[in-house]
Amino acid sequence: MLRIRRFYLDLFTSGVQTSKNQEETSDSHKLNGKNQPEVIHWHNRGVAARALHLSRGVEKPSGRVTYIVVLEGLCRFSVQELTTRGTYYTARIIPLDMTKSDMDQVEQDPEFVMLSRQFKAMAMELISVLEQKQKTGGRTKVLLETVPVHKLADIFVASFEISFEEQLSMLDSVDLKVRLLKATELVDRHLQSIRVAEKITQKVEGQLSKSQKEFLLRQQMRAIKEELGDNDDEDDDVATLERKMKAAGMPPNIWKHAQRELRRLKKMQPQQPGYNSSHVYLDLLADLPWQKASEEHELDLKAAKDHLDSDHYGLVKIKHRIIEYLAVRKLKPDARGPVLCFVGPPGVGKTSLASSIATALGRKFVRISLGGVKDEADIRGHRRTYIGSMPGRLIDGLKRVGVCNPVMLLDEIDKTGSDVRGDPASALLEVLDPEQNKTFNDHYLNVPYDLSKVIFVATANRVQPVPPPLLDRMEVIELPGYTPEEKLNIAMRHLIPRVLDQHGLNFDFLQIPEAMVKLVIQRYTREAGVRNLERNLAAIARAAAVRVAEREHAIPLSKDVQQIASPLLESRLADGADVEMEIIPMGVNNHDISQALRITSPLVVDEAMLEKVLGPPRYDDRETADRIATPGISVGLVWTAFGGEVQFVEATAMVGKGDLHLTGQLGDVIKESAQIAMTWVRARATQLKLATAEETNLLEGRDIHIHFPAGAIPKDGPSAGVTLVTALVSLFSQRKVRTDTAMTGEMTLRGSVLPVGGIKDKVLAAHQYGIKRVILPERNLKDLAEVPSAVLSSLEILLAKQMEDVLEQAFEGGCPWRQHSKL
Ligand code: ADP
Repeated sequence: MLRIRRFYLDLFTSGVQTSKNQEETSDSHKLNGKNQPEVIHWHNRGVAARALHLSRGVEKPSGRVTYIVVLEGLCRFSVQELTTRGTYYTARIIPLDMTKSDMDQVEQDPEFVMLSRQFKAMAMELISVLEQKQKTGGRTKVLLETVPVHKLADIFVASFEISFEEQLSMLDSVDLKVRLLKATELVDRHLQSIRVAEKITQKVEGQLSKSQKEFLLRQQMRAIKEELGDNDDEDDDVATLERKMKAAGMPPNIWKHAQRELRRLKKMQPQQPGYNSSHVYLDLLADLPWQKASEEHELDLKAAKDHLDSDHYGLVKIKHRIIEYLAVRKLKPDARGPVLCFVGPPGVGKTSLASSIATALGRKFVRISLGGVKDEADIRGHRRTYIGSMPGRLIDGLKRVGVCNPVMLLDEIDKTGSDVRGDPASALLEVLDPEQNKTFNDHYLNVPYDLSKVIFVATANRVQPVPPPLLDRMEVIELPGYTPEEKLNIAMRHLIPRVLDQHGLNFDFLQIPEAMVKLVIQRYTREAGVRNLERNLAAIARAAAVRVAEREHAIPLSKDVQQIASPLLESRLADGADVEMEIIPMGVNNHDISQALRITSPLVVDEAMLEKVLGPPRYDDRETADRIATPGISVGLVWTAFGGEVQFVEATAMVGKGDLHLTGQLGDVIKESAQIAMTWVRARATQLKLATAEETNLLEGRDIHIHFPAGAIPKDGPSAGVTLVTALVSLFSQRKVRTDTAMTGEMTLRGSVLPVGGIKDKVLAAHQYGIKRVILPERNLKDLAEVPSAVLSSLEILLAKQMEDVLEQAFEGGCPWRQHSKL
């Protein structure tokens, strides 16, 4: 007795129920497939109804006709007995509705009162929500007030779409309290579902309107672009990018990764936040040389040697080592040779040697500056999650050079430092390790890149700061500074022709005699390399270009060539200032000027012109003599990143409590050297006749101040030991140190003189300074082999084993007080 004919109950505000008698009307007569009448299960409860209206619907094309019956529900009933009469059924029923007195009784029940209040409140809420939504009038509200609550529950529930089982269970709820409870629950559920549906609609509507807005704006933008004739659309842009990516020849795994990123990009709107960064990233992937390489031609060692010789003067040993390196590459192109590291002061040709290696190998050359790199991300790149992230310098360099097998110069590898942002040196270790650099991982790129085809060459000013593991991967080739003679040759053969060419001049216009170049070297430059020399020559060339052009008043220039008047230049030349002026004749090339000026005689540089252009001499030989005018000053030789240097040490005494003051940007080691020097001198005060036998304490009632002039340059290292002692002995003895003597050497507490580094550079610096005698530690004798004989022959080299040997040589006539004491 479970099945019942389906009724679809629609809510009528008047309380009348409509029943659409649908196709199921003939269910009871249905025959199953075997022509057996189907057994129909009737529910044992039902609703008695009165037919109010019957209407015939429009006939469908299939010939079916729909009838609509409007029924008014009267009361629930229960079926007592069911019988068939012909083609339809009849039933004996008992009405189930309550009598009036029953009703009155229930209405007194507090539980019922509460339930009906709850139901009404819920129903009220539902009605207001529906009213808000459909903007209907308050007709339904009237129902709440007029219809008894138990009927109201039926009416409300009938208006929702609830399952058939729920409908039956509602029908079975004869008990009023049960019915109200169920109805409240159903109304609440309906209310919730309306709210959820509303929320969803709101969201969808919001999105729709945003995307519609974007669409509109984009259409407008397109129209503006078309109007401007600027048709490179985003679509074209992405298509170009895709073409570029396809042509980049990425390895399959990277291609897959790039494709994924491209798909993401295609889904994005250009105005979306990640669009630009994604585009830039894909651009980089497409621009990187994954396969593109310079064709390596058959290496001709003879040609490579000629090329090195024609570009660089001297440097015999170094060129020889480079040829060896190239020879190994020729025999075994994929040999994992050491990474060459050129070490030397600035301007000695490190970069130009590296570029010559590239030319000899027929490869492209790219220079990566590592000076001041403290952040590991500079080498490895930032992760793309950071705003403004970039690839590291290596990947950037490869993108610039456009081939995967360039010669890459890691410039100033000694200038990388480490701090909280990581250690760039450890990233460089990976770069230089042939085992690891096949899959170099740049954080920005986020896919491995094969660096194994790159030839690395490094440069450094000093070896010391390079971390040992990094140094271990490299072969250090030292390039000490040049002697004045070498500089002269470099200038005459390489620098002057290049400088003239750069300024549109040649030897027909300007001649710089050897004697003048020597003067520039002696008086205007004091450096290990030739960079300042080249700069000074360029200044001469610039001034000469102006002079030559100005001298042409009388010569008719071709009409395109403009006269260059320069009262400003004249006044600056008269002031003896450095002249920084570029001459760019409009529409005229150098050749034209040369032709126009050919008839004049060449301008020969003389001393007067040097002074006009470069100013008064910056350095002269008398300097040491002038500076050692009083006792307490000595001349040391030190080694800096710029090569050898002459360093004065000044000591003075004043009234005090026996303190030692040190100034001049000193490191810890040099401060310790000063302490040692002081101790040594005090310990030998009587022996050296610096103090009388009674008054042995040299510091009694006085302070000592030691200063290293040129305070802006940081100084450190032990090699000033002997110079410090000499200055102190000079101070206490009130005897002047010889002005023609310079010294270097570490001193132990017991007075032994230990060898130091950078001897060649130091001796060259002394020579350049016009110093005639150099005191060196005895154990540095072997290092003199590196010093050119021309320099050695002009110097007197004095070797010292003990501090006393140094003092013996540093003072005029030896160390008389010591001899005296021996007597
Ligand atoms: P570094 O890299 O050592 O600082 P560079 O290689 O830039 O120095 O050299 C500076 C300039 O000096 C370049 O123009 C270079 O050609 C020139 N130069 C240096 N040494 C020589 C040399 N031995 N022969 C010819 N030119 C040289």
